[in-house]
Amino acid sequence: MLIRPSCWLAFATNGNFRKYSIVKMTSNWMTEKIKISSLSIEDKRKTYRSNEYVILDKVDPWHKYVAGSKDIENKKHTQEDLTEFRKIKLNEEKNAELAEKVSIFRGDITKLEIDAIVNAANSRLKAGGGVDGAIHRAAGPLLQAECNSIGGCPTGEARITSGYDLPAKHVIHTVGPQDGSAQKLRSCYESCFALVKEHQIKSVAFPCISTGIYGFPNRLAAHIALQTTRQFLEQNTDVGRVIFCTFMQVDVDIYETLLQVYFPVHEWNYND
Ligand code: ADP
Repeated sequence: MLIRPSCWLAFATNGNFRKYSIVKMTSNWMTEKIKISSLSIEDKRKTYRSNEYVILDKVDPWHKYVAGSKDIENKKHTQEDLTEFRKIKLNEEKNAELAEKVSIFRGDITKLEIDAIVNAANSRLKAGGGVDGAIHRAAGPLLQAECNSIGGCPTGEARITSGYDLPAKHVIHTVGPQDGSAQKLRSCYESCFALVKEHQIKSVAFPCISTGIYGFPNRLAAHIALQTTRQFLEQNTDVGRVIFCTFMQVDVDIYETLLQVYFPVHEWNYND
């Protein structure tokens, strides 16, 4: 039987047991991590904190999303978008294949039952607000216990943990820039993809890193996300799905516009 992490939270709030519970939590995250990784999907689903979860098959690949969306072609890119886009060169032969691998998911990233979700973390890897708070709440306190064992993470780098009570198997924590540095944001995506490759992760979802509390401009952030994803997927055929999780309408609009440029489903060629 699985020990629910909420038991440990109860211990941790009891003054007399506090020290004892922290020691127990340290060893407990390791035990739990091993246990979770060996569960069948049916048993793993019993550990989720929320009954609402979204399986990968319910997230439309981009070409299907475009086909099912009436007004998407009215979302036009700007000249500045093309200038930014032309900083990378596409291998156009991959267009059709990659339009089946990327997706826009509108909603809460913690609901996704996939291999890994990315967390927009802080450099101390302490549960904070925004998407970070949502992920920690849905994963339970053992996520913080494992993060504590890592200690921290510099801006632009990434670290991986188990997902605990989340539907996602892993959480990749990356620390976005607070100073608007495009290079550091690019490094976040590249560091996450390096972990995706190392851990043979087949499906991964990204929130709009740094665009919330950290204030990075949404449109440039989306360009960086799409450029690094396109380059990674062109060179790494093992990864099946990359999902852009959009939580705010502004990001839905930006991603619907820019995916048409970076992952064209028609014969258009914006690279010329
Ligand atoms: P940062 O500190 O890196 O700016 P935030 O968490 O403040 O991170 O915001 C990053 C993005 O995550 C924002 O677009 C925000 O709207 C979005 N977000 C917040 N909660 C969730 C969630 N539960 N699922 C997906 N995205 C979320």
